[in-house]
Amino acid sequence: EVEIAIKVVVVGNGAVGKSSMIQRYCKGIFTKDYKKTIGVDFLERQIEVNNEEVRLMLWDTAGQEEFDAITKAYYRGAQACVLAFSVVDRDSFEAIESWKRKVEAEVGEISMVIVQNKIDMIDEACIQPEEAENLAKKLRLRFYNTSVKENINVDEVFRYLTEKYLEK
Ligand code: GDP
Ligand code: MG
Repeated sequence: EVEIAIKVVVVGNGAVGKSSMIQRYCKGIFTKDYKKTIGVDFLERQIEVNNEEVRLMLWDTAGQEEFDAITKAYYRGAQACVLAFSVVDRDSFEAIESWKRKVEAEVGEISMVIVQNKIDMIDEACIQPEEAENLAKKLRLRFYNTSVKENINVDEVFRYLTEKYLEK
């Protein structure tokens, strides 16, 4: 029986791989076709952490990142947050702090993690490794390199967030 359910929001600029990450984690699939997210509020997956069954509800944005139209309803009640950027998108890296502020303005301090996605494209990186590490240090957040495409570190991100949430 699941007694713990956690609402996780995944935020960051458009095209960094948020929808792909949620699909990968909850459905085990990756698709190369860029599809704007429509309709679905969240996907879920159940995991066991510290002998507890936990249900993670991963909320996706409706592809409105660019228009700043993400509603309060999306953040409401969130208990954990993935701040995502892409290693091949400089703007997405520079937007991380403002995403953090936006989330905290609605829900206060919750468990967060910074994720640099598309690490499979590291050859085309436009962010230096130490820049990402410095940002994580400054914001005092754990930092993960992921490839949703190659399924690298995706499970680890959500496991960490869950453990961090349960610690509180
Ligand atoms: P969102 O706008 O943040 O939801 O981004 P999407 O999930 O729609 O992904 C945008 C594009 O990046 C899609 O074409 C994905 O297939 C691609 N993508 C997502 N994750 C990765 C990754 O880890 N590596 C590579 N090479 N492409 C990715
Ligand atoms: Mg999306």
